[in-house]
Amino acid sequence: MIYKILDKKDYEDFLKKLIENYDFYGPVKKDAAVHDFQKINDFQKIDTDFKRTTIAPAKKIIYPPVEILLSYDISDDIKLNSKVQSEEMILFGIDACDVNGLAFLDRFFADEFLDDFYFQKRNKLTVIGLDRIPSETNFSLSLGKEYAREGFDIFLTDLKDRYFVRVGTEKGNNLIRRFANTRDATEKDFADYDKYMDNYRKSFKAKADISNFYDNFEIIYDNDKFWSKTAKDCFSCGSCCLVCPTCFCFNVRDDMEINLKKGNKIREWDSCMIPDYGLVAGGHNFRKDKENRLKQRYRCKLKTFVQRFDTYACVGCGRCIEACMAKISIVDDINSVKKEVSV
Ligand code: SF4
Ligand code: SF4
Repeated sequence: MIYKILDKKDYEDFLKKLIENYDFYGPVKKDAAVHDFQKINDFQKIDTDFKRTTIAPAKKIIYPPVEILLSYDISDDIKLNSKVQSEEMILFGIDACDVNGLAFLDRFFADEFLDDFYFQKRNKLTVIGLDRIPSETNFSLSLGKEYAREGFDIFLTDLKDRYFVRVGTEKGNNLIRRFANTRDATEKDFADYDKYMDNYRKSFKAKADISNFYDNFEIIYDNDKFWSKTAKDCFSCGSCCLVCPTCFCFNVRDDMEINLKKGNKIREWDSCMIPDYGLVAGGHNFRKDKENRLKQRYRCKLKTFVQRFDTYACVGCGRCIEACMAKISIVDDINSVKKEVSV
């Protein structure tokens, strides 16, 4: 890791140069309540003045909600076309949660089977993170995900008159050398950065007691009364998965023309919370009850990947809490598991 300082007066110039030279994605204000990560051609459009992470997860830039994997034409000879859009891109302004979310997806899409569609774009993506004060629902501190150690090329922390810059990769270092007017960080800069991080960690309001969750979850697993109560208000809408920076499930379907000669193989995000997810040929549904679906979601997020990758498949961003019309909260449910088992 290399540590640098970017003075505030040089910040605009740095970003303008990146916008000129790359496909640049960053936070844009959509309306009073919503920011989104969008392609930006004008520096003035960048708006980093939002408290919570934007509701659309940044993963959509490289893992879009709908994506054509293959176009085919079998009219005469068989013609197949499988192109991946892969321009050099910069993603600016994502916080530590989203960086950790990307780092999780990097591991998932390289595990067992290397997902070329993901990595052709990911390898051309430069990530510039930006620290921010957490929203009311952000509980990443409880999961140890409030700080990004990997998954970014450059990470900026606002120290009022200057940015503390962590450079995580050679790609990030080249970008800094080429486009930014920086200096080396001094002892005073490190001391101010430590002070910022102390205050940042103290500012988390949402807290989940995840201690012993791994074992407690198994104890509570067959407690139908607990899960009926927990999932009682769920509409099975799937919104919690669609906003999640770490959810990776997708479906692949064929979209064919009526002559059955031409078509596209399409991948689109799926959600384990919707009733059809577990439906198989013959009409059997492996998870037809919403209680089982919610239970499975928590198991996947908080247990399965502890076994597989030694990490949670949740970064504690709190988006699913904000997106849920039924006010189901993963923080409350983690705490309820603990309470129920402790009684
Ligand atoms: S938990 Fe909430 S967001 Fe998720 S499926 Fe149920 S109602 Fe929808
Ligand atoms: S499960 Fe909820 S809190 Fe965890 S990463 Fe996904 S959206 Fe964020």
